[in-house]
Amino acid sequence: MTKTETWLRGGTIVDGTGAPPRTGDVAIAGEVTSRVTPPGAVPAHPRDEIDCTGMTITPGFIDIHTHSDLSFVHHPSATSKIMQGVTTEVVGNCGFSPFPVHPHRRETLVDFLRGISVPRTNIPWSDFAGYADAVDAYRPIMNVAPLAGHGALRIAAAGTRDVTVDGDLLRTMERLLRECLDQGAFGLSTGLSYVPSQFAGQDEINALARVVHDHDALYATHARATPDPFDSFDEAIDVGKATGVRVQYSHLALNDPRMWGRADDVLAHFQQAVDAGIDVRYDVYPYDASASSLTQYLPAWVQADGEDRIRRVLADRAGFVRARDELAEGLFGSITWDWERVVVSLAGPDDEDLEGLSIARGAEMRGMAPEELCLRLAMRYGNRARVVLFYRTEEDVAAFLAHPLAIVGSDGTAMPVTAPGRPHPRSYGSHARLLHRYVATEGRLTLTDAVHKATLAPARRIGITDRGVLTQGARADIAVFDAPAIRDTATWTDPCQLATGVRDVWINGEQAVADGEPTGCRAGRVLRRSSR
Ligand SMILES: [Zn+2]
Repeated sequence: MTKTETWLRGGTIVDGTGAPPRTGDVAIAGEVTSRVTPPGAVPAHPRDEIDCTGMTITPGFIDIHTHSDLSFVHHPSATSKIMQGVTTEVVGNCGFSPFPVHPHRRETLVDFLRGISVPRTNIPWSDFAGYADAVDAYRPIMNVAPLAGHGALRIAAAGTRDVTVDGDLLRTMERLLRECLDQGAFGLSTGLSYVPSQFAGQDEINALARVVHDHDALYATHARATPDPFDSFDEAIDVGKATGVRVQYSHLALNDPRMWGRADDVLAHFQQAVDAGIDVRYDVYPYDASASSLTQYLPAWVQADGEDRIRRVLADRAGFVRARDELAEGLFGSITWDWERVVVSLAGPDDEDLEGLSIARGAEMRGMAPEELCLRLAMRYGNRARVVLFYRTEEDVAAFLAHPLAIVGSDGTAMPVTAPGRPHPRSYGSHARLLHRYVATEGRLTLTDAVHKATLAPARRIGITDRGVLTQGARADIAVFDAPAIRDTATWTDPCQLATGVRDVWINGEQAVADGEPTGCRAGRVLRRSSR
């Protein structure tokens, strides 16, 4: 007996491939898209039909860069993402992943994960398979495609210390990575500005990238903070050149005022590498500000070895003074601080009045130097203290989004309707903002191009073969939205605002959003890389 089909009738189909929009019908049967036909080509009973006249039907969005590793444990509703039509979250980015776990360094990993705002979590598993089974047991609302984080691998092998990884240590890391990939991880990510990833040299990265290449998986890199940004682009490109691995440069942006307006030079640089045969692309999120844990901007010797050590180092007067003086030298040691552009998004119980204010203003209120305020917040709240940095320009962001090498990734996290503090609005608005601001309002991209960059392009990049495209036989991850009406409503001062304009969402053939409301259906799962 054939399964009953649900028909989405008369919508504008933008299928993810980059093909021009066309009017048509889409049928869902069980977990798959069973047919895509011209309008009315196949009759059906009216009770099995959903009118999509005036609506756009696309594959569900695949967010190639997120930190939702444990979101589905902490916030099973994940409304911030499904209300934008996102159906798959790629997690494990920037070197952060909740696996593998060394039994003696479980707490270190838990501390480390606070750098991506993961609340303290019991992590009973030891490897990718254990993590994936645990998340599946929570019945995630959407699909999760994990990368293995270099930071987690390095903590498992060597802790957070500044050591050279070679010989036996390197063999341990290679083995742990191979295990992750064999169990289904989609690749490796690095966070080269974070401890402990920042202690990794080129030999270590290349050795691990070779393992990734052997598995035909993805190498995603959050670049090192270098005085000349082109050095950080080249570091990523060189890994591709040396190993042949597929390289994804994470959250491309120009954060140095001296570089503002030079997006075209950067794009030419990446294009040149591609023309030379190197498989490199980048992802970008549609905002002119970044957000991170405050501790990331402290000198490396302060960050090394976890939160407790940060407190100990700074509690010592000499350590505090040295850290303050080094911090004053600039952002990543080279970019002059503009404390007006650094805004506290999350502090803690004794400093809630600072949330939403710049460090400049907060320091004035507390009667101390800005550097001192940063260190005090780090001492009090460790990796939990978060800041937003307004260190980018709209022009650069738009140029990065429009280029053919771009893939859209939010760098956000699946969140519930309300979250503590003021998170970056990207978690609530990236994909809606792409469609509203850059397609509908400014016309920087066509709808077709934007949808491609959020569906099939990321699917291909990460190695997902049965999603990201609206075609017969693909998994039924589908979004139906009112393209001109779509809005990101999350702002810097009021970020926990759901996007509007997405009417229906299906995940693995189950309806997760109906008539603009979440259904509560949790049909997602952890995806495992299948060897190709
Ligand atoms: Zn990152």
